[in-house]
Amino acid sequence: MQELTHYLNGEHVKGTSGRFADVMNPATGEVQAKCPLASKEELEQAVAYAAAAQPKWAATNPQRRARVLMKLVDLLNRDMDKLAEALSREHGKTLPDAAGDVQRGLEVVEYCIGAPHMLKGEFTDSAGPGIDMYSMRQALGVTAGITPFNFPAMIPMWMFAPAIACGNAFILKPSERDPSVPLMLAELAEEAGLPKGILQVVNGDKEAVDAILYNDVIQSVGFVGSTPIAEYIYGTGCAQGKRVQCFGGAKNHMIIMPDADMAQAADALIGAGYGAAGERCMAISVAVPVGDETADRLIEELVPRIEKLKVGPYTAGNDVDYGPVVTGAAKANIERLVQTGIDQGAKLVVDGRDFKLQGYEDGYFVGPHLFDHATKDMDIYQQEIFGPVLTCVRAQTYEEAIGLAMDHEYGNGTAIFTRDGDAARDFANRINVGMVGINVPIPVPLAYHTFGGWKKSVFGDLNQHGPDAFKFYTRTKTVTARWPSGIKEGGEFSIPVME
Ligand code: NAD
Repeated sequence: MQELTHYLNGEHVKGTSGRFADVMNPATGEVQAKCPLASKEELEQAVAYAAAAQPKWAATNPQRRARVLMKLVDLLNRDMDKLAEALSREHGKTLPDAAGDVQRGLEVVEYCIGAPHMLKGEFTDSAGPGIDMYSMRQALGVTAGITPFNFPAMIPMWMFAPAIACGNAFILKPSERDPSVPLMLAELAEEAGLPKGILQVVNGDKEAVDAILYNDVIQSVGFVGSTPIAEYIYGTGCAQGKRVQCFGGAKNHMIIMPDADMAQAADALIGAGYGAAGERCMAISVAVPVGDETADRLIEELVPRIEKLKVGPYTAGNDVDYGPVVTGAAKANIERLVQTGIDQGAKLVVDGRDFKLQGYEDGYFVGPHLFDHATKDMDIYQQEIFGPVLTCVRAQTYEEAIGLAMDHEYGNGTAIFTRDGDAARDFANRINVGMVGINVPIPVPLAYHTFGGWKKSVFGDLNQHGPDAFKFYTRTKTVTARWPSGIKEGGEFSIPVME
């Protein structure tokens, strides 16, 4: 049985708390490794290393820091297959999807190579007589991030790349369900030339998270995960005076207008609803066809596509569409919610409950499900299922459809499928959701834009990656300077104003 480690000050270090989490092989249901769960003391040790290393790193000129990221991009490409395999082994997603997970993180590392430009600051010449004014963006110091299981490469990179590009030290507390790739990323960053102590991995659970939240040296906390934990981390971290950004759960609606290309909409829904077994915060979990005729046509297109989906382990090759869900608990929760859908009166058009995979009977595979005629009051509509379950809620008008998405408590992503530019434009303008797709089912912005939802999908103001990340990981200092002789006329007692 492999015992995983922490990664502290450039070394793999065994856990000392005596507590471990099982890392499962989701395809077989077997325990494949033990993940150490850090104590407060272990987290404090990481903070001490980070605090010692960070001032020198912050004083390294930004171009040299960027060169480390350039090299990291090379190394990520070199090790792409290795990273993807390690990711699939613990998470369960297919190899091409795992490579996409690494790639989407790598693109943020690429973006952060522009740090020297992003950190240039502002300057006003002659803001007053003989006075210049300039602002600079300075590193926060020691920063930390807590990440979910579903993107164990991408989301850590979304956090640590801008954090270290800005001159911070970063402590990553990854998900205890798939911690191997985060450890590999820290090793690669060091191979790229990152000084020891600047990127460390502390594995753990709530105990390590609380140690982060209550640590006085840590200046900022980034979190991505479920909404109740996001809310807890935001409230606790802010109360401790930290800068905090938390990204939570989702229930993403896709509206299908009567004029949409129904085959195209169905293809989009298949990928967006069932890809990665539905374990994506940008998965489409609710389809809202407008009008019964649209709904009937959509269901007719969807059913044969769903019945053809190939579910299997990542080792079965590239024609597998999706793999197992991450744990037995996740599977049980999906099955429980499916049962509530049936009990509360939704029509289960495709029933994945009896799905079994020969040779993998103990794995956490879940067959694809499709509900039709679901309504607003049902649990399958209100709650995030995070599994291969697509729920169709029929609307009679466009207004009713947009109203559904607007009234839902989550607001991460959404999409509209239509050929009508006016409807699409109105939708993009009015919808209270952070990321919008127009005939695009999973509108995840690229690295140089920012990523973030609205409503209960986010706590905080700045988004992830793009220019917002440079704001989140720095603070502004503004200098007003008068040279060469300073105040000649004696003290000034009124607040300076421009006349
Ligand atoms: P999770 O909330 O269970 O765990 C996320 C992190 O929080 C992990 O590192 C975990 O160790 C830690 N954690 C768990 N329980 C905790 C507790 N009681 N106190 C403190 N820390 C705790 O989330 P998950 O199951 O790993 O990930 C799936 C969720 O993440 C879904 O809700 C999904 O929508 C969401 N997600 C959101 C985004 C986004 O950008 N909005 C992206 C990816 C995933």
